[in-house]
Amino acid sequence: MEDQKHTLLGGKYEKGRLIGTGTFAKVYHGREVSTGESVAIKVINKDQVRDQGMVEQIQREISATRLVRHPNIVELREVLATKSKIYYVMEYVSGGELFAKVAGGRLKEDVARKYFQQLISAIDFCHSRGVSHRDIKPENLLLNGNDDLKITDFGFSALPEQKRLDGLLHTQCGTPAYVAPEVLRKKGYDGAKADIWSCGVVLYVLLAGFLPFHDENLMNLYRKIFKAEYEFPPWFSHETRKLISKLLMADPERRISIQGIMRVPWYRRGLSRNNSFRSKKERVSSPDPTPGSLKKSTSSPAFFNAFELISSMSSGFDLSTLFEGKEKKKVASIFTSKFSAAAIVERIEAAARGLRFIVETEDDFKVRMEGTEEGRKGALAVTAEVFEMAAEMTVVEFTKDSGDTLEYEKFCEDGVRPALKDIVWTWQGDDGNSNGGSDVNVNSD
Ligand code: ADP
Ligand code: MG
Repeated sequence: MEDQKHTLLGGKYEKGRLIGTGTFAKVYHGREVSTGESVAIKVINKDQVRDQGMVEQIQREISATRLVRHPNIVELREVLATKSKIYYVMEYVSGGELFAKVAGGRLKEDVARKYFQQLISAIDFCHSRGVSHRDIKPENLLLNGNDDLKITDFGFSALPEQKRLDGLLHTQCGTPAYVAPEVLRKKGYDGAKADIWSCGVVLYVLLAGFLPFHDENLMNLYRKIFKAEYEFPPWFSHETRKLISKLLMADPERRISIQGIMRVPWYRRGLSRNNSFRSKKERVSSPDPTPGSLKKSTSSPAFFNAFELISSMSSGFDLSTLFEGKEKKKVASIFTSKFSAAAIVERIEAAARGLRFIVETEDDFKVRMEGTEEGRKGALAVTAEVFEMAAEMTVVEFTKDSGDTLEYEKFCEDGVRPALKDIVWTWQGDDGNSNGGSDVNVNSD
């Protein structure tokens, strides 16, 4: 079975049968060999990506998934790549598409409500992070073995930095039948409000078994959507009619908000008081039996990580563009690591204390450091922020909050770098093999 090894993705995953085909990707069942655990592997052809100028979209998908970890959102575990393909290793969702369920006939009100509650809970969570999904439709809503809903396909999601100065989105995307009128008008829109419209269409479809807006002719379809022209089937209850009319409100300004939905008695029915995910610990880090331990993964030569992959696709690519809301003028230093966030935070704290800085750890992912000596422009203050991109793929960004730039550079070069040497995989801007961890070697496949 020696030969088998060569077909393992990243030395870890066995690729199995095809389970889905999307616009740009094929999705396969897979198995993590060491644990036997099922995963879903989404495969994208890089040529296609390059041809279609999709680098940005991929970046968006990676960063959107990084920001949103929620029980009703498919978790991205790892991004791998060979020279010609990109592999997203995701949590496997075994129950198929919600679409298939509805295609078999409309759902009972209680069943539809449960899915709608889970959808709204996930969307609320996304929106609270400044991420809108923008392609909500039953094909992107999957069901797991527990019959719980999981949103997939963040391909179109927009992060705050995609917003223009007026705070509105300008890319038209999505599937017409589920798309909000203001999106079709191409005038710029609020992605969060557009998501709520799509949730309204989903709720309608679940309860009706067919679409609220339907027409063979695309122009007629658009016209119906613009006017929010649809009819309720006779079996829709008074309460569901009321809620759907608030969701499918053509004017986004008058459309119900997530908070509004959550106050509607029909929505609240059956919801336990404390099952709001937001109140729980928001970030669930990858399962690590010994949190804080310096666990290093074995390297896998034929594969490289999301950053190298993106860098390889667009030369001159700057990692800092992945960090929304950060202005370029700030001096930032970024490194990637295979260690857990907890381990990294611990090491940064120790390094900073060693340099006689006052350390304040804000949460598990953010460390603020302040120098005890007066510098040329006051004391130097630095923040380190840790982002867990996927299992064994962490990105750490240092930013200077105040103080002199030269002193900051010296702090990074002579202080931080040597102290963190053994946990850093690559520093941004360092070429290829400049440090021990990056034995990356790209084989063609
Ligand atoms: P695209 O971005 O090309 O539309 P998707 O991410 O929507 O691709 O995936 C395409 C299809 O593959 C989905 O509609 C679904 O049927 C299946 N699929 C996607 N992700 C998973 C997953 N994590 N588990 C099981 N099936 C999945
Ligand atoms: Mg899809």
